[in-house]
Amino acid sequence: MNILFHGGAKEVGGSCILVENDNNRVALDYGIKVEKGLSYDAPKRLDAVVITHAHLDHSGNLLTLSDGNTAIVGSEATRDVSSELLNDLIKVQRLNGVDIPYSYKDVNKITDLWISREKLALPGMEISLYPAGHVLGARMAYLEAEGKKVLYTGDFCLHDTEILDGANLSAFPREPDVLIMESTYGCIVRPTREELINTLFKSIIETMERRGNILIPTFAFHRIQEMARRIDTAMGMKILPRYNTYIISRLAERITEYFGEYKMSLKKSLQDDMDPFRYERIKSIKKVDAIREPAMVICTPGFGQAGISRELLYEWAEDEDNSIIINTGYLPEDSPLNMAKEKGVIKNDGESVEVKADVKQIELSGHADQIELVQFVKTIRPKRTFLVHGDPDQILALEKKISEFTEVTIPENHEKFKI
Ligand SMILES: [Zn+2]
Repeated sequence: MNILFHGGAKEVGGSCILVENDNNRVALDYGIKVEKGLSYDAPKRLDAVVITHAHLDHSGNLLTLSDGNTAIVGSEATRDVSSELLNDLIKVQRLNGVDIPYSYKDVNKITDLWISREKLALPGMEISLYPAGHVLGARMAYLEAEGKKVLYTGDFCLHDTEILDGANLSAFPREPDVLIMESTYGCIVRPTREELINTLFKSIIETMERRGNILIPTFAFHRIQEMARRIDTAMGMKILPRYNTYIISRLAERITEYFGEYKMSLKKSLQDDMDPFRYERIKSIKKVDAIREPAMVICTPGFGQAGISRELLYEWAEDEDNSIIINTGYLPEDSPLNMAKEKGVIKNDGESVEVKADVKQIELSGHADQIELVQFVKTIRPKRTFLVHGDPDQILALEKKISEFTEVTIPENHEKFKI
């Protein structure tokens, strides 16, 4: 069996790993680097592609398979959310003037190729999926072929969050020949979720006390639903005071429908709720004109680079009573939110805008941190571990922590291994 790392080695983005033997060619994830768009040199002539979850860095390149007959394997929630995100990708690329040779019809073709089963047998290879935490519908992929066993984590999370249980360690098969594991937070030990949420609420309350505006830019898939439910629930429990609170994101609204539809894959406490994502204290609006200030606004996109996030960032940045709460860990270096946080200045058509608003980064992530990554390796006991999906410093720190339990390899993109 050969394993070829096509993308996502020593980097975050463009995840795609080819596993092939005499009978099968299977890709694990088929992602893009969002800033670079589609990649046309990804492996082709595939029998199947396993999509671990809907984030575009794991699924975005599926558009390039829409003309073929490759089976796409993943959960139902991943299928539906991926199709929303792929439609949005086409829209954004067109808006940016990129000549993208795919249309919304091609997204439907991908949905038709989808096989949403937890187990699939190909001639000579078995594929099984296991819940991975991280986001709605996320799975790990387990391949068995020629007596070899390969476990690929995709992105995962072991700790429970407010809306989703972490991956259940006891469910995974032990001692695979190969573990391919994400390393996003390979050198980071995070505060507990409780501590992070307390910091978030403290920051919100302080801004409310000075009657400032609060901007919370986030992602349309999972993070926004989680954030809105967290704030709505806290207001209901009087942990947070009532305030004019809004969501602005049409994409998120469409994706939220699937959170209702697939609530059985969310936490038990949400399953009993008739409509867990109908917020009682948060208003969904379409345009910024409908905001009554002072206000708290949860909106997209997550890096503040476009749309409502960007518009409000520029409008609210100069007032020291306001606050901007970043809840992603990773920020592209030249993104406006990173500039606001690191430099205190953002650029608008060449003009500099000084950021006087309070900028905080509170990382409510859905990834395993270093402690969880080490715990995963110790429990699963793989013979050999390939570390992917992380910046080199994160990967190197993680290698040190796990090398006494497993043989560690740090692959390069386009590197091939015989197992
Ligand atoms: Zn992800």
